[in-house]
Amino acid sequence: MRGDRALRILDLDVSWPPRKRRGTQGDDWLVTDTSLEPSREGLTLKKLKIPKRIEQRYTAWQAIRHNWGFIALHLGVLAAFIAGVSWPAVVACLGFYWMRVFFITGFYHRYFSHRTFQTTRVFQAVMALLGTLGIQKGPLWWAGHHRFHHRHSDEEEDVHSPLKGGFWWAHIGWLLAYNRDDTRWEEVKDLVRFPELRWLDRWYFGSTLLYAGGTIALGFWLERAFPTTGVTWLQIFVWCFVVSTVMLLHTTYLINSGAHMWGSRRFPTRDTSRNNLLLALITLGEGWHNNHHRYPGSERNGFFWWEIDVTHYLLTMLSWTGLIWDLRRPPAHVYNEGARTV
Ligand SMILES: [Zn+2]
Ligand SMILES: [Zn+2]
Repeated sequence: MRGDRALRILDLDVSWPPRKRRGTQGDDWLVTDTSLEPSREGLTLKKLKIPKRIEQRYTAWQAIRHNWGFIALHLGVLAAFIAGVSWPAVVACLGFYWMRVFFITGFYHRYFSHRTFQTTRVFQAVMALLGTLGIQKGPLWWAGHHRFHHRHSDEEEDVHSPLKGGFWWAHIGWLLAYNRDDTRWEEVKDLVRFPELRWLDRWYFGSTLLYAGGTIALGFWLERAFPTTGVTWLQIFVWCFVVSTVMLLHTTYLINSGAHMWGSRRFPTRDTSRNNLLLALITLGEGWHNNHHRYPGSERNGFFWWEIDVTHYLLTMLSWTGLIWDLRRPPAHVYNEGARTV
């Protein structure tokens, strides 16, 4: 009976990575007994048989096969030369880029990963849905992996530490070279109890399709509304879906790579995190990564007024509407610590 194995969330005590045992089907399988699956009854502890390659580095061919969407998206950038460009396409591309940067930084990062402010259950679901438009998998997957990064920053377990394999490893290697599809359920016990979040985590790809369709529909409308600009539906699709998403992915990745390599360190944290103005500008404030590693519970990553943090400004404005509240700030002792080293 499935329900017999249902566990109460508070009773969970799981370790990661799962303990490995030799499977019954030879060397190709691992059986893990610590995998968690949300179900109607709550969380079920499930004996899961997984291909052994999940724990092993992909061969080049496996990496290509598994990451075909990622590769196709990057090759798709070249279609901009065929589709051409117009000012509505550039404006829309940048608009969708900045909007989705905010969905990732303000919602996936500062809310789902760090819970730096409070909101209603309905707006929480809205934030999760908007976050999926960033095409970086579901909110629980993102938050789980990110919380794990904070718990093990630059230690052996940290999957995207530049200390392990340099810039490219921290940037995209960690994501492409292994199967990283599983959500780290044990890191998101506070979020997993919401069925709507589990649903979005599972079906995040639906948003990708909706977003792609939406850009095409917008393109047809712009083509009719601004015929003299030379804008076409294909242009809007290529610039808003393909180019804007590639920009968004790489600026997000730069926080794992660049923000652990380039810049200054205000706080002597036990990791390689750095503060970097340029990265803060292109990611709406995430470049103040050394601040963030010192006090991840803060809603603002720019701790001082001169540290430009657009996500903080937007979240502050959002709090004026009453949709979010209790925006958490760094405590005085953290500021004092920082003031000594500014
Ligand atoms: Zn970091
Ligand atoms: Zn973080």
